[in-house]
Amino acid sequence: MSDDTSIRPKLALTDSQWRAKLTPAEYRVLRKAGTEPAFVGEYTDTKTEGVYRCRACGAELFRSDSKFDSHCGWPSFFTPLAGGAVIERADDSLGMHRVEVLCANCGSHLGHVFEGEGYDTPTDLRYCINSISLTLEPKAD
Ligand SMILES: [Zn+2]
Repeated sequence: MSDDTSIRPKLALTDSQWRAKLTPAEYRVLRKAGTEPAFVGEYTDTKTEGVYRCRACGAELFRSDSKFDSHCGWPSFFTPLAGGAVIERADDSLGMHRVEVLCANCGSHLGHVFEGEGYDTPTDLRYCINSISLTLEPKAD
């Protein structure tokens, strides 16, 4: 999936550059579209106010005010920070039809987005994002 040439991120590193920049666990999720186990990610239940950045490149992706309790085991957001912050594309791997969410700036894998699940949110979308794909920058006060 990460080798898909249809995604042309602004920040394009080689595979060995990504390996050097990321921990093995980060690399597996961000660059190889892995998924961290449910309920263990560091931001699953985080309520801290702030901005979630891409752990691979630092781009701003999500805001804490669009994070909600989905009880699915991963951090969940009902909208990205801005329309152009993420890229969405069809993912038919594992015999499922899903929509993959990638960082628009560096093309790294973030998670998937699901719709129509009936959560009480403004969009009825759930951006189900791996904690390890994010870095929370707490709001300064
Ligand atoms: Zn990124």
